[in-house]
Amino acid sequence: MRVRFAPSPTGALHIGGARTALFNWLLARHEGGELLLRIEDTDRERSTPENVQQILDALRWLELDWDEGPIMQTERSERHGEALRALLQAGHAYRCSATAQDVKAYKLAHGADRGFRGEPEPEADGSAAAVRLHVPEEGATVVHDVIRGDTRFEHVHLDDPVIARADGSALYNFAVAIDDLDAGITHVVRGEDHLSNTPKQLLVLEAARAAGFGPRSPLPVYAHLPLLHGPDGKKLSKRHGAASVQELRDAGYLPEAVRNYLALLGWGAGDDQTVLSTEELIERFELERVSRNPARFDETKLRWLNGVWIRELPVEDLTCRVAGFLRAGAHAGAAADARLPRAVQISQEKIHTLADFWPLTGALLDDDPVDDPKARERWLGEEGRGTLHDAREALAALEDFTEAQIGQALEGVLARRAVKPREVYQPLRVAIAGTTVSPGIFESVALLGRAETLRRIDRISESALDSGSEQAD
Ligand code: GLU
Repeated sequence: MRVRFAPSPTGALHIGGARTALFNWLLARHEGGELLLRIEDTDRERSTPENVQQILDALRWLELDWDEGPIMQTERSERHGEALRALLQAGHAYRCSATAQDVKAYKLAHGADRGFRGEPEPEADGSAAAVRLHVPEEGATVVHDVIRGDTRFEHVHLDDPVIARADGSALYNFAVAIDDLDAGITHVVRGEDHLSNTPKQLLVLEAARAAGFGPRSPLPVYAHLPLLHGPDGKKLSKRHGAASVQELRDAGYLPEAVRNYLALLGWGAGDDQTVLSTEELIERFELERVSRNPARFDETKLRWLNGVWIRELPVEDLTCRVAGFLRAGAHAGAAADARLPRAVQISQEKIHTLADFWPLTGALLDDDPVDDPKARERWLGEEGRGTLHDAREALAALEDFTEAQIGQALEGVLARRAVKPREVYQPLRVAIAGTTVSPGIFESVALLGRAETLRRIDRISESALDSGSEQAD
């Protein structure tokens, strides 16, 4: 089995493209086949080196490797020229200078659903007419699709497609077919939007074979993957959230979770299992199980799944990933903080993405914690300051500043004041983290250490007193 992923580098790698890459990769790995990467860079204006790099970076981040390539389609233009000459010589293609106007006139004369047939022009030296492929008059081209079954394209309705411009440069459907032929591609797996290109590509392959061009291999097997919709059932677009692999990375998703989620966009293991390791995906992936119905990309589900994967990770591994994420963002300094492993450990149960870590726990690592006036107002009134004072006393008196002792001390405060846990924990949380979100309170206090915990309590108590006396004045 030889499959290929053939992106056009016109921008970032989008969710749909990433799913196509993944399905090809899973298929190749499942079958022990080969995956070829071909960059379809014939759109010279949009196929910039930066765009090519973006695609490669996205594939590397997803940890999808390839066995051959990247092959640049533009580097194959001479070969496309050879194929073109072979088809012209064998009479399967012809020069034709028909314009869009001519095609229109033809349809008016013959009926709108009648495929256009051009007037062949003599092949002269330096001929400057475009090249069209002869579509046979009779019969039909049937696309046998593993996912969608057979789709029949009657030849009488197909235009003779233009396969090369007057300057000799190959057009898309021609280049793709010749590249697949030369590369010995056995399975073409791509998005459903390419289904209508397939008869043209099949006709090119048949013409090449009839002209004796290229290797004589069987026609590829086709599989067109279902469209992607957003949760609202509309075609997937930017307004449904993260649209590209880069955005998913920047949003703090893990590549293994993204692979897991993308695999479920149109494919299922058959037993409703949703959490699948990459090894399991490779083992269980089959094209025959891909649905023909549109699949829904729902970022909420991806977030949930990512949380599952985050909790699966050994702490050291998660710490490395959080550190990498912090380094790439606005809190690079924290990546080297010796307390980071423990901070990550106490956050692991509560975060869904790497990006969730800092808003939850950053205040404990940051010298300058968040200031949330609403939280102060709510929790550091007279009552709150009272419990905070007691908590401070209890913590200051501890022999060992361990989580267990911290827990006991704070529970003692609860009992003495006969209040609900949050009446003690929230004022303390606001004091140490500046806000009402943090990992578990005992763990958070222990992470901060005695000196810093007391310092923060004192600081906020003083500022509360200051503002209290201002009001009194
Ligand atoms: N280059 C095409 C695209 O990015 C895919 C071509 C193919 O897979 O045949 O949509």
